[in-house]
Amino acid sequence: MPHPSPDRITLLPFLSPGTILSCPDCGMGLYLLVKKVTRDGTFEGAVKPMVDVPEYTRGGSLPKKCPFCKVGEWWYPPGTVHTLQYGWVA
Ligand SMILES: [Zn+2]
Repeated sequence: MPHPSPDRITLLPFLSPGTILSCPDCGMGLYLLVKKVTRDGTFEGAVKPMVDVPEYTRGGSLPKKCPFCKVGEWWYPPGTVHTLQYGWVA
């Protein structure tokens, strides 16, 4: 899956608690933010995995794949993520 085009990305200075990181392909919710995360912050320790989702691990500079459909890539380095509420965010 290609990186989302810039016109599909919403620029936000931070993500609020309650934001759900979700798969752009199948739409499944993956991680719930339990803390505010700023642009230079990390999701590590700030997200709770949804049911049947593995614990979030930082690591790697590769896009992260959805554990359900194994097709959707919901995180592109260095910090573009797909959310349920806002779509693509950077
Ligand atoms: Zn998926």
